[in-house]
Amino acid sequence: MINRRKFIQLGSLATSAMALSPIASIQGKNRLHTVKANQPIVISTWDFGVAANQAAWEILGKGGKSLDAVEAGVKVPEADLKNVTVGKGGYPDRDGHVTLDACIMDSAGNCGAVLALEHVTHAISVARLVMEKTPHVMLAGEGALQFALQNGFEKENLLMPESEKAWKEWLEKAEYKPIINIENESFNKERLPGNQYNHDTIGMLAIDADGHMSGACTTSGMAFKMRGRIGDSPIIGAGLYVDDEVGGATATGVGEEVVRTVGSFLVVELMRQGYSPEAACKEAVQRIIKKKPEASKSLQVGFLAMNKQGEYGAYALQGGFTFAVCDQQQQDLIIKGKSVY
Ligand code: ASP
Repeated sequence: MINRRKFIQLGSLATSAMALSPIASIQGKNRLHTVKANQPIVISTWDFGVAANQAAWEILGKGGKSLDAVEAGVKVPEADLKNVTVGKGGYPDRDGHVTLDACIMDSAGNCGAVLALEHVTHAISVARLVMEKTPHVMLAGEGALQFALQNGFEKENLLMPESEKAWKEWLEKAEYKPIINIENESFNKERLPGNQYNHDTIGMLAIDADGHMSGACTTSGMAFKMRGRIGDSPIIGAGLYVDDEVGGATATGVGEEVVRTVGSFLVVELMRQGYSPEAACKEAVQRIIKKKPEASKSLQVGFLAMNKQGEYGAYALQGGFTFAVCDQQQQDLIIKGKSVY
């Protein structure tokens, strides 16, 4: 494992990568910055993507499959009790239930998802079983739990004391106003009880040594959401999309906006038309602004994408969006995504 941590702007990475690699390029308005990385490679959303990527790398670095890598990778934040936005320890809905959303997609176009799954930490593994053991793509709520228990998962309590405390503090006002851009410094005052974040999903994309891409996406969703609310994260095409001919994309932020624009599918289709990953993410963000010019100033959505060549990029509405990159050269890179505002 490499301990050195670099925290850099994508622009400067692109510049240095260009100096190193003739494949890295900036060509025309639909390219913006592109970064050619070595394969295998894994990328994921937010700073907590670093530890997740390293778990994925344990598999990718030994020639393992991208599907196994993304599942193992996102299981790290799912099990991390300090992470209040993914898996066990996630903030509950406004009635006090921790409900998890997750999906997974492989290079053959197979996919599986669970929506509002309770009592199981590793929602991503249940999503994978939905993909592999049922003729369906999605299982929700009670049915998803029943399926998980039938397949050997233990019923657990996911509401950890810290999250319960934060929920009870929130209940004192019970103001239903999802605030979703708080990683932006200018919004710090609006942080939730305990100075915690109220959202953030892990979305991960990996290319293995055989050149095949898979993706995974898992979250506890918006903190203190309405009971039954589902965001973008378990919706194939919204929170995650992979097309092994083109590349993949994943999303984080206000899920409703991502669902409305079928964001990850849009990013992949733009890459198919020749957009670089970063330019495709930027265009998807701009579609959200176009539909809601005023509202978009106060919400966060970030897209992360990688094409089949291993070029990656991201774009967000607000500053503060980060993503992590891991390949043969470096296992702990964090990059600040560019933003509109
Ligand atoms: N997209 C997630 C949701 O809407 C939350 C996030 O990624 O911040 O549930």
